[in-house]
Amino acid sequence: MHNFLPFAYFEGQFIPFESAKLSIATHALHYGTGAFGGLRGIPDPQHPHQILLFRLDRHCKRLSDSARFLQFDLPASTIESIIVEFVKKNQPTTSFYIRPFVYTSDLGIAPRLHNVAKDFFVYGLELGDYLSPEGVSCRISSWYRQEDRSLPLRGKISGAYITSSLAKTEAVGAGFDEAILMNAQGKVSEASGMNVFIVRHGQIITPGYEQDILEGITRDSILTVARDLGIPVVERPIDKSELLIADEVFLSGTAAKVTPVRRIENYELPSHRPITDKLREKLTAITENRDPQYQAWVSVVSLS
Ligand code: PMP
Repeated sequence: MHNFLPFAYFEGQFIPFESAKLSIATHALHYGTGAFGGLRGIPDPQHPHQILLFRLDRHCKRLSDSARFLQFDLPASTIESIIVEFVKKNQPTTSFYIRPFVYTSDLGIAPRLHNVAKDFFVYGLELGDYLSPEGVSCRISSWYRQEDRSLPLRGKISGAYITSSLAKTEAVGAGFDEAILMNAQGKVSEASGMNVFIVRHGQIITPGYEQDILEGITRDSILTVARDLGIPVVERPIDKSELLIADEVFLSGTAAKVTPVRRIENYELPSHRPITDKLREKLTAITENRDPQYQAWVSVVSLS
């Protein structure tokens, strides 16, 4: 069971988390017509009365874009100020995760996005490591990532997560920690809630947007940091066989941070992972606001 933060933003106000309840007839529950964000906050290790939020602006912009796909006009600036207020109200003392959610909120049936009310809520929970930082084993999923022609993949649309859920449960049922999904063309796309990177011959390779990935914000941060460190980076299709013989494979995501992959199917990967380790360390320093070069990525919320 999770430890939820005490207050939620729900129907326009802050109320105790336990009181934020929806009807069983809520439209989005039936049709997957919601979209969410997910961002991490941590108490500032140097200043305990401050909370650090990583790439708040990008998370709010992505959620605002997702809301547009649901025909809901919710400016990123509105989401941003509600999240800042949410953090101040909750006064978190440990590492946590914020889940903002937009959804069709009417009671009733018939899938559609027009003539249906929309709403927005935010809640949070304490969150340490989502996946083991020591590394995970991955199954190549029998479920394929959806295509943009069926679903707006640039939005984090809640209904799309049936595929992630099927893939994750299939992988765990077969004794693995995580799933890697191919796209319809059979190229590596992403994991159940993370982007995928490989390292070969000192070069970092990750699938591009043509491989139907989510526009991961951690992915974007890693690409920028790697380029700044002078590590060669390329965004291109990755075949299954290339994944299996890579020197390093890692997953990236807000919850997963940078998680090494130890094994894919029955292929053990090398335990020496210099680039994964370097990027993980660098990302940790950036999120803890210890890296002056990337201070613009960290929003500081004062709790006093
Ligand atoms: N892909 C999917 C399907 C995800 O749910 C996530 C988590 N948001 C990611 C990739 C990674 O994105 P981010 O780095 O923005 O958390």
